[in-house]
Amino acid sequence: MSHDPNCIFCKIIEGKIPSRKLYEDDDLLAFHDISPWAPVHFLIVPKIHVVSLYDVSAEHQALLGKMLSLAPELARQEGALNGFRCVINNGQDGGQEVSHLHLHVMGGARPWARG
Ligand code: AMP
Ligand code: ZN
Repeated sequence: MSHDPNCIFCKIIEGKIPSRKLYEDDDLLAFHDISPWAPVHFLIVPKIHVVSLYDVSAEHQALLGKMLSLAPELARQEGALNGFRCVINNGQDGGQEVSHLHLHVMGGARPWARG
């Protein structure tokens, strides 16, 4: 299933729920986290509905590489020039709240609200 009609991030990707977009291409969307922990906090998501890293296989390697390599580019663009953190929460014990794979990118001057 490339889209899940009940998934909030699929709805953002489809434009059914608004977001503050930072970047978009055929494969990825990046948008500001609605509840930021840090001065810079955005999410990079694949446009296809992949639940978590438990669900990736060899066919997703290029996509994962794209997600990671986009992070420093957008972090710089957003002004996180002194370091940033990348986090992917997976499953219940991993603290994943939204079941659509997403890379958190957090940066900016400390202190941060969390993390
Ligand atoms: P996680 O706990 O890793 O699943 O993180 C989910 C993240 O999605 C949280 O940091 C939320 O603040 C964020 N989030 C949830 N709904 C939205 C939304 N509509 N727009 C932007 N970010 C969202
Ligand atoms: Zn989804």
